[in-house]
Amino acid sequence: MSLIQRLISNLGTEENYALIQKIHGHFYYAKKINLINQAIETDIEAEKLMMLTLPTRLKKEGYECFIGDLIQVNPQNQTITEIIPRLSLMPRPKVANIDQALIIISVCEPAPEPEYLDRLLTHASLTLPDKPIICLTKVDLQKPAPEFINLYKSLGYKIIELSYLQPESLEELKTYLFNKVSVLAGQSGVGKSSLLTNLFPERAFKVGDVSKKSQKGTHTTRHTEMFEGRSGKNIFYILDTPGFSRLDAQVNLTEINSAKAFPEIAQSQEKCYFEDCKHLEENGCKINFSESRKASYQKLAQESIERESEQLESRKVKDAEDSTKKSSSVNINIPKLKSSDRSISRKKQKQSFNLNTEDSLNETENSEE
Ligand code: GDP
Repeated sequence: MSLIQRLISNLGTEENYALIQKIHGHFYYAKKINLINQAIETDIEAEKLMMLTLPTRLKKEGYECFIGDLIQVNPQNQTITEIIPRLSLMPRPKVANIDQALIIISVCEPAPEPEYLDRLLTHASLTLPDKPIICLTKVDLQKPAPEFINLYKSLGYKIIELSYLQPESLEELKTYLFNKVSVLAGQSGVGKSSLLTNLFPERAFKVGDVSKKSQKGTHTTRHTEMFEGRSGKNIFYILDTPGFSRLDAQVNLTEINSAKAFPEIAQSQEKCYFEDCKHLEENGCKINFSESRKASYQKLAQESIERESEQLESRKVKDAEDSTKKSSSVNINIPKLKSSDRSISRKKQKQSFNLNTEDSLNETENSEE
């Protein structure tokens, strides 16, 4: 069940729910949505998106809306009346309620980069509820390497071979998209815009060339938008966002060292010799990584170890600075001497001389004796 379905199934029979698909300035564009027999249905009559605003009262209370948010709407004044608590939120740019990632790689032009693919897979597996799907594009140009396909299939990933010359290759992909919100991820030039063009033929997506020199695409997605597709009665949503491919989410070692991120960890028959094996260079490590996956695992693990130790170091420096600041501003309570034991300042001496001239004179006289 997708996150949106889960949200809707808890809402009862109330109407006027909508899904935000686009945001421009202060305007939110959303489509009315119903849930019928566990399938998401949008209002077929309403071809256009509703243009809505978020009332100042809600903004003042700290409410924010993002693409992917399920909202309740007042159709009379075209305002958002409620934001249904989201089940997930992807940062930079913020997008809510995503179910799965479609990781797009091409068999050639550009050739797959296993480390980049493994990073995307790890990132998607750790942040989204459904297992990512690998889409292998440009299969008309070159046959995919069987070792590559077998490796990722053996780890439980779905691999779908696509070619924009064979639109029927999309049908298999669509069956995994229905009722879900999927985010596209992959480096430029691999065929994301071409895939969107095939999925949404009524819309014009900018397809770029692949540079001969860098083997990268020349067009990059700059803004985020959710596209709604249909196949018969079935609906699916695709998000095109630059955020997911940027991979700036920082995953820690415990997350990386998990079967969710690296299914090999669960598949190994024997347990490692050490309880807390990090699967780096330990003797007795039993994880059966392929060479390329081991390299990716080690790179990710090493990065997170370095990042964690940098963070620890900078926290230590900050704590030390804070405690120096505190100690310099502390009032040290020095006990006062009895007034008889205190040395008398010159000013006081003078004053006492002026005031008690006679006593002082006497004292002086006595001392001279
Ligand atoms: P994006 O940067 O990931 O959006 O990639 P594009 O969709 O812009 O495609 C980059 C280049 O690859 C363009 O020249 C496309 O025509 C080409 N391309 C995309 N998909 C396929 C495919 O399935 N087969 C072939 N032969 N070329 C493709």
